[in-house]
Amino acid sequence: MDPVFLGNVDASFMSQIPKTQQQDYPVLFEMGAPGLTAVALPESGVRAADRRRHVPAELLAEQLPALPEVGELDLVRHYKRLSHKCFSVDENFYPLGSCTMKYNPRINERVAAMPEFTEVHPYQEDADVQGLLEMLYWLRCDLAEIAGLAEVTLQPAAGAHGEMTGLMIINAYHRSRGENRRQVLAPESAHGTNPASCTICGCTQISVKGKPNGRVDLDDLRAKVNRDTAALMLTNPNTVGIFDEQVADIARILHAQGTQFYMDGANMNAILGITQPGRFGVDVMHYNTHKTFSTPHGGGGPGAGPVAVAEHLRPFLPVPQVARRCDGSFTWDYDRPHSIGKVRSFYGQIGVLVRAYTYIRALGPDGLRDVAEKAVLNANYLAARVKHRYELPFPPPYAHEFIAMPKFGDSGIGDLEVSKRLLDHRIHPPTMSFPIHHCLMIEPTETESLAALDQFVAAMLEIADEAEKDPEMVKTAPHTTSVKRVDEVTASRKPNVRWKPAVR
Ligand SMILES: *Cc1c(COP(=O)(O)O)cnc(C)c1O
Repeated sequence: MDPVFLGNVDASFMSQIPKTQQQDYPVLFEMGAPGLTAVALPESGVRAADRRRHVPAELLAEQLPALPEVGELDLVRHYKRLSHKCFSVDENFYPLGSCTMKYNPRINERVAAMPEFTEVHPYQEDADVQGLLEMLYWLRCDLAEIAGLAEVTLQPAAGAHGEMTGLMIINAYHRSRGENRRQVLAPESAHGTNPASCTICGCTQISVKGKPNGRVDLDDLRAKVNRDTAALMLTNPNTVGIFDEQVADIARILHAQGTQFYMDGANMNAILGITQPGRFGVDVMHYNTHKTFSTPHGGGGPGAGPVAVAEHLRPFLPVPQVARRCDGSFTWDYDRPHSIGKVRSFYGQIGVLVRAYTYIRALGPDGLRDVAEKAVLNANYLAARVKHRYELPFPPPYAHEFIAMPKFGDSGIGDLEVSKRLLDHRIHPPTMSFPIHHCLMIEPTETESLAALDQFVAAMLEIADEAEKDPEMVKTAPHTTSVKRVDEVTASRKPNVRWKPAVR
């Protein structure tokens, strides 16, 4: 076998790239040269078997897979370079409304990386993993207490998955009473996953109107709730950043018709330790642990969506449930005859749940309340500082986020342009055009310092000035990123990750 020199990399790939594009790099498949490798394995002591004797001919590949062949240093540089092109909470202010891109304390990572959590197998005997089960047990108890509800399942793998689980529980409850309710109400501002969860559970979603002040229109709700209504799904505080203080009346209207009150708990970071959904009449809710209790997320994961239910819905929770025996040991309880069954393989997103538990324990009850107070304070501070240049369609006070409308006459500058220009300030754009067209939904989270908030304010005000004095500058932004304006439809349908996409 020829010796392989690690790191002895053919750098000639750089010369194949036109000079003008050299700040962009090739994809891994275009790098390296045949024979280069990032690992050197010793010669195997076992004689190779003839694979044709052991594997049926139709399963044998005719060629080796066309994998990239690169040296170790090449590999490291490639991914390091890519990482610099990303926006992340660790590098940039990230006020992406509804997503709660808060800082993920490093202690979470330390604990999640402990071999006691990473080196266990889901088929391991309960007796071998008592510590892990104990952690899950206390997490489910903590989450039930924070919700003010009776019991929690940790199985769902995301908020959306929690919604589906919650609706399955609600459907099972109605069926157990001989009812087959098929309608689910949700406000117009509901997150897209709410109607999707309804559909997947075989229900029809019906929109409830909102009032100009961002609250539910109770008259419209009364007119639409009836004996066919399985549930109302309400996000509170909602996606326009308003805590709907009519919530106890909403619960009464629903319960008078036997309708269940589902709360989308994505915005729990605004009310942690201040109030409990169970106290204002919620029957089921999900958490997004990756939002409320930190964990870096985005691009589809990772996350967890534990679901909390009131007493009357406990029998329907998924199996297995982590449980504590009388002797103080921990186990998986499958003995729940009315359960909706399992909603995820094995026991849930353990790594994310460990982080959530660590976060909750590190902060304690007072710390969690402090999270909510600071999240709310930060959002209201930003709103107050930008309101003379951006229209705020819903009146304050806000919870943890708020909606701002860029309105600069007929300059052609809207949410997209302001967002692109923010990239030049190394700030991740807020959520755009959700839940209303052409808006920015701004969520600073509690983890940002006053200095970071002030930098954001300065950027927003500078862009507002620019919109009047130098609109072209804003309309052609971003100017400093490696990728400029892309055709968004083409970018999502036919992504070209190789070279600079066409400038719009
Ligand atoms: C994020 C979010 C969801 C979906 O949660 P995932 O964990 O991304 O599946 C649902 N509702 C609201 C209001 C959200 O912000």
